[in-house]
Formats: sequence, structure tokens, C-alpha cells
Amino acid sequence: MIDRMFGKITLSIIKPDAVQKEYVIPILCKIIHAGFHIAALKMTELSKKSAKKFYAEHKNKLFFESLIRFMSSGPIVSVILEKENAVKDFRILIGETNPVYAKKGTIRNLYASSLEKNAIHGSDNNQNALKECLFYFSNREIFLKENFC
Ligand code: AMP
Repeated sequence: MIDRMFGKITLSIIKPDAVQKEYVIPILCKIIHAGFHIAALKMTELSKKSAKKFYAEHKNKLFFESLIRFMSSGPIVSVILEKENAVKDFRILIGETNPVYAKKGTIRNLYASSLEKNAIHGSDNNQNALKECLFYFSNREIFLKENFC
């Protein structure tokens, strides 16, 4: 069902560092003010096994084990966001992966504390966005704006 939303949705995760610091609502407010519709949202916890599956593309990187430990260290909030050019626009809103280089006013500039604890995830391309959305949500949990009365 969400396949036809290619290019119009992205997956975001508010990471354990930002959840722990009570940044969930400020971050969601910024996202909504930037014109995104929240099509799905849940607070959950990743098992180490699920985190390894989600970040499988990084399994050979030096930071992999640490990333898995961090992402399974506490609750996360996963969100499907709907907007034209969702992936690209969202990556601009969150800023560079390393908050040191994130532009002023971006989410990572405001809320991240390090390269690993960088507050938020955004899908890196439209194909992965669809895959990542279905990693966290079933079709019945997704409420697209176009379906609202
Ligand atoms: P990405 O798939 O590019 O979003 O990377 C996944 C996450 O891994 C990033 O959001 C960071 O939290 C973490 N990460 C990426 N590169 C590094 C690195 N060089 N050292 C530590 N953590 C990293």
C-alpha cells in the first residue's frame, strides 16, 4: 500500500539520547512546522537483534558494535513522515550526521551531542525510506494525509 508513496515519505527515528533528554516533543514540533505530516508514530525499544538488522549495511564498520549498543540502550520514537520530497527535505531539516558540521537551527545542531548520539535518523534515499517504514510499521499503522476526510 505505501509503495505508491515513493518519494513522498521518509522514516525518522528519535534516538535514545534525545528521548532520554525529553526532546521528543520539541523535535516533533520542529518537524511539523517544517510541513511534514506524521503518518505513523510509535515509542518502542530495539532489541540488539533488530538494531543489527536495521543497520546491517554498517556491519563491517568500526563503529557498528557501539552503534548497536547505543540504539538498543533505551526507548526510541519511530515516525513516518509524509511530504513532497520527504527524504531530501528531511535530511536538510536534521543537518549533517556529525552535529559539529550541522547548520545552525537544524535538529542535530540543536539537540545532538556527538556523531553517534546524534539525536535523530532520516532515511538516505527513497528506496530505503519505503523499506525502513515497513521495518517499523505495518500498513494498518500508517495514516497518510491523502486518506484523511
Ligand atoms: P547513517 O546510516 O549514515 O545514518 O549512519 C547511522 C548512524 O551511525 C549515524 O546516524 C551515527 O549515529 C552513526 N555513525 C555514522 N558514522 C559514524 C562514525 N564514524 N562513528 C560513530 N558513529 C557513526
